[in-house]
Amino acid sequence: MGQTVVVGRIKHETNTFSSLSTGREEFAATSLYRGEAIVPEFRGTNTDLGGFLRVGEERGWEVVPTIAANATPGGIVTAEALDDFVETLLGGIDEADPDAVLLGLHGAMVSERDRDGDGYILERVRESVGEGVPVMATLDLHANVSDRMAENADGLFGYDTYPHVDIGDTGEEAAQAMAATLSGGLDPTVVVERAPLLPPLPVLQTADEPMRSLLAAAADAESARVPDVSVFGGFAYADVPEAGFSVVGVTDGSLEDDARGACADIAADAAARRREFDRAYTSVGEAVEEATAWDAAEGPLLLADVADNPGGGSAEDGTVLLDALLDAGVEGAAVAAIYDPAAVDAAVDAGVGASLSVELGGHIEDNGDPISVDASVRLLSDGTYRNQGPMSTGLRVSFGRTAVLEIDGVDVIVGSHRQQPYDPEVFRSHGITPERQRVLVLKSTVHYRAAFEPIAAAVREVSAPGLCSPDLSSFEYEHVDRSMYPLDDA
Ligand SMILES: [Zn+2]
Repeated sequence: MGQTVVVGRIKHETNTFSSLSTGREEFAATSLYRGEAIVPEFRGTNTDLGGFLRVGEERGWEVVPTIAANATPGGIVTAEALDDFVETLLGGIDEADPDAVLLGLHGAMVSERDRDGDGYILERVRESVGEGVPVMATLDLHANVSDRMAENADGLFGYDTYPHVDIGDTGEEAAQAMAATLSGGLDPTVVVERAPLLPPLPVLQTADEPMRSLLAAAADAESARVPDVSVFGGFAYADVPEAGFSVVGVTDGSLEDDARGACADIAADAAARRREFDRAYTSVGEAVEEATAWDAAEGPLLLADVADNPGGGSAEDGTVLLDALLDAGVEGAAVAAIYDPAAVDAAVDAGVGASLSVELGGHIEDNGDPISVDASVRLLSDGTYRNQGPMSTGLRVSFGRTAVLEIDGVDVIVGSHRQQPYDPEVFRSHGITPERQRVLVLKSTVHYRAAFEPIAAAVREVSAPGLCSPDLSSFEYEHVDRSMYPLDDA
């Protein structure tokens, strides 16, 4: 009989500056599956679980699915939600008495139950299975890796790309290392080295320096007995002591010193190159000026509202850029998305083709006031599709119930669930052909690049207010190590 491997997924990237709490409802609205329902949902997808399942089938494992919970990044995860997911996972482990445990985690979860949410999950699993059963997890490139996470895992495997187009590959890597461990070919341990860096999101994209060459160095340090070296940029919007940049190796115990040395070298290189993480952004005024003059024949001008990205925990209801575009009379634009459940309700009540006046967006955080608009309702939808682009391909995502509102020649997708728009299906599923727009506005920091760069004639990173602002001086940190660049660097 094959080996028994418990798999689970409990993921959240927590923005501790958010006023929104993240409970079971928020997970249910994003992605929440239990037990046998998990396999058909994730098989064949470019996700952590998709990768685990592929290797499991190839290796003839008896895979025991337990919990798959992911919520759009936002405020602190309730104790009730984390307790529920951990109990479901531990219940599955208890019942299966597995040979191994594979988890898809994020690495930047902050919960009421425990500020180091991922360290807590791994510690509970370790307590449950003991030292003899290997436990490995995949982590997002934006993980804030704690010592407690490393101490309670036999392997931590990070995505090597941002946009994260290799989540499924990372799941496969972890599962292959697990297979090597189960066959006795690997005696894995985790090493962590840190750099005093807290980079904002846009500068961590892996097509650009310095991440590009730091990741190349990490790949060079890998071998059969050092199956993974990951470069974690950290998540600057979780105000926790473990926030920051780290380089993590999974190594056979016999090569621990070598692997640690390789990780330390990469971390030191990152620290030495800290000023390469600085970057200039396009102001709202510059963006509007360019959009006003943009020649549609060129193809779409893409304005990324990088700070109001729900994928990093922002409210997705910031109005500053939209208001400025409407003020300037920019037409032929499509916006994804503004989170405003009340406006969606009003549009549903009014019906397709009706006109209505709404106070749109600006209700949640300090990211622009609600804007008074007269709109016509072009389309109502369940706001749900499966990704077709390179990132999380095949994964079902939902904006909740949606309305497409046309406001003075601008089509705005208004949603009732916060979701990052990074796949062109967001437009296509709402009757909008992105290639034919003059201007595209996306509430996304980096992920949109994977599928929208081939469509867009030009991309601008626009800095409007939001909880993913690249200007970290706008946040009041209490718990992070203030000596990290760029916070207090001389
Ligand atoms: Zn990430």
